[in-house]
Amino acid sequence: MRKDALLIIDMSNDFVHDQGGLSAGKPAQKIVPFIVELADQFNEMGKPIFFCMDAHEPNDAHFKLWPVHNVKGTWGAHLYGSLGEWYATHKQEQKVHFIPKPEYDAFIRTNLDQLLKEYKVDTVHLVGVCTDICDFLTAYGAYSRGYATIAYKKGMATFTDQHERFLAHMHAILKQQSLTKTEADHVTKRCEDVKQRCSWVSTDPDYVAYHDFEWGRPTYDSQELFELLCLEGMQAGLSWITILKRRSSFRQAFDRFDPKCMSAYSEQKIEHLMKNKGIIRNRLKIKAMITNAQMYLALEKQQSFSDFLWSFTGGTPTVHHYKEAEAIPTSSNESLLMSKALKKRGFKFVGETICYAFMQASGMVNDHETGCFCYAKCLPAQNKVN
Ligand SMILES: [Zn+2]
Ligand SMILES: [Zn+2]
Repeated sequence: MRKDALLIIDMSNDFVHDQGGLSAGKPAQKIVPFIVELADQFNEMGKPIFFCMDAHEPNDAHFKLWPVHNVKGTWGAHLYGSLGEWYATHKQEQKVHFIPKPEYDAFIRTNLDQLLKEYKVDTVHLVGVCTDICDFLTAYGAYSRGYATIAYKKGMATFTDQHERFLAHMHAILKQQSLTKTEADHVTKRCEDVKQRCSWVSTDPDYVAYHDFEWGRPTYDSQELFELLCLEGMQAGLSWITILKRRSSFRQAFDRFDPKCMSAYSEQKIEHLMKNKGIIRNRLKIKAMITNAQMYLALEKQQSFSDFLWSFTGGTPTVHHYKEAEAIPTSSNESLLMSKALKKRGFKFVGETICYAFMQASGMVNDHETGCFCYAKCLPAQNKVN
């Protein structure tokens, strides 16, 4: 049986907080809930967890290359936000470790390797910052010492534009196990004991991971919402799993759904996309997405795309209480209003059904079945039940 350990890398105030000395900012803050959840899962399963953390002297030679960060004993070197709380709650537990590290690679001049060997660990799971620096080099440190590695796409972030590239790079040169699959394997394993999910979720690991970590979680980031709306539009007439399986190809093909890039696509680019087997090759839909990118930019001049969309539910998720999938509608008054408003502004492939699916996915409505373990997780803060 595989023996796993979780390595949480450099999630300090300096690397994550807006005021941090070398902060990856919002992308790093966004991965915190995912990492906390992963830490809970590892802890529940009795698997060891290592907080690997830069620990520098004030005059470290390292600071010739980087802004000052993670100086021993300072605020900046403390774990960020809810991860700090998680650690404070669990630090007395035997399998929770804090590894101060002097280098990028958490294996250099630390006792990490020794501890992993004591636990007979053969696979390390990596999360934290930064994807292309300490995550990458620690992954190599693990690989070169004979450990299998798993990198979590949704558990890593960086302050450069190299996130996706380095994930692919690690996957290629460190024989890393497939990200979404292992992520989902992990979820599946965890859920064998207690978890009950919405009845529509198949056993496909990608689908399970999508349901558990994304579907129905309130999303307020304009660009993420734009991506989701594009994907929902692409789905029209197809199954969601068809889109999900192609999502990374879509991201690559459509410049990670950056509206600025997409709005400027030429005829030549469209022809190029029509030859891309990784995506849905439907000219009408592709053109619609380009139009939508242009409309997004126009709308953003007046108000944020996120505020605009969330206004249809008054800014907070609408909580439903459906016991069974059969009871869940495919559109609503709000989705009809959203559809009309988007169409009026020139958006395409935004019918009321698409809008409703979008509202469910982005957490504007909580349509997890009441028996699903995600139902409570997707409630707005004020009526959160634990
Ligand atoms: Zn450092
Ligand atoms: Zn659910």
